[in-house]
Amino acid sequence: MKWIDTHAHLYLEQFDHDRDTVIQHAVSNGVSTILLPNIDQTTIAAMLKVCSDYPDHCFPMMGLHPGSIKEDYRQQLDTILQAIDRIKPIAIGEIGLDFYWDIKYKTEQIKAFTRQLDIAKELRLPVVIHTREAFDVILELVESAQNGELQGVFHCFTGTLDNVRRILDLGFYMGIGGVLTYKKSELPIVVKDIPLTSIVLETDAPYLPPVPFRGKRNESSFMIETAKKLAEIKQVSLEEVAQTTTSNAIKLFNLS
Ligand SMILES: [Zn+2]
Repeated sequence: MKWIDTHAHLYLEQFDHDRDTVIQHAVSNGVSTILLPNIDQTTIAAMLKVCSDYPDHCFPMMGLHPGSIKEDYRQQLDTILQAIDRIKPIAIGEIGLDFYWDIKYKTEQIKAFTRQLDIAKELRLPVVIHTREAFDVILELVESAQNGELQGVFHCFTGTLDNVRRILDLGFYMGIGGVLTYKKSELPIVVKDIPLTSIVLETDAPYLPPVPFRGKRNESSFMIETAKKLAEIKQVSLEEVAQTTTSNAIKLFNLS
């Protein structure tokens, strides 16, 4: 079975001592393609280094994460734009709105997100969206930006059935990760109503490890546990989960 981890931060320092082992472990478990979302200007170099060390397995996105947006966001966006020109990323990400930690830069977050949606449309690249405590605002922004050509994924999806309906209407995908395996999560109920054809799998490594790895550092090979849970909820074979989610990711990110 062939799997694609559509969201992993394997360039972070949590992997500095054993990155090679982590990537070999992923590949030997069938997770042979790993997509790396950028965070801000401080992470670009490390991310590109991993992509050049593992050109057959790791592919870069480029974007400015809402958690890094402050009064200097215009300068940060300029740096991101130059990087987009230089590296030809597979997607614009991760971008979005996060009103959970800090709403001081709400306006700046909205401006930076809208700008990056425009860039994605110009370049015909998919967007990888992070949202926390901001679902209504972000859905309105994406709905008004949707010109029929915008494509993307709501990464680490944990929303409601109403959110699902609006995302399906947008023609977007939902990125499902370790939260699906958590005992108190409502996600298994919501996932019943998401067609498998609109799901891509992800880890968000090093964060949010699935059961039975909670408390540990997450890594790409652990994604199989989330896939097993998805197969159980959907009452299909693991094989079918692999085939469908992998072909969804290939289509969304234009992978060959
Ligand atoms: Zn992320």
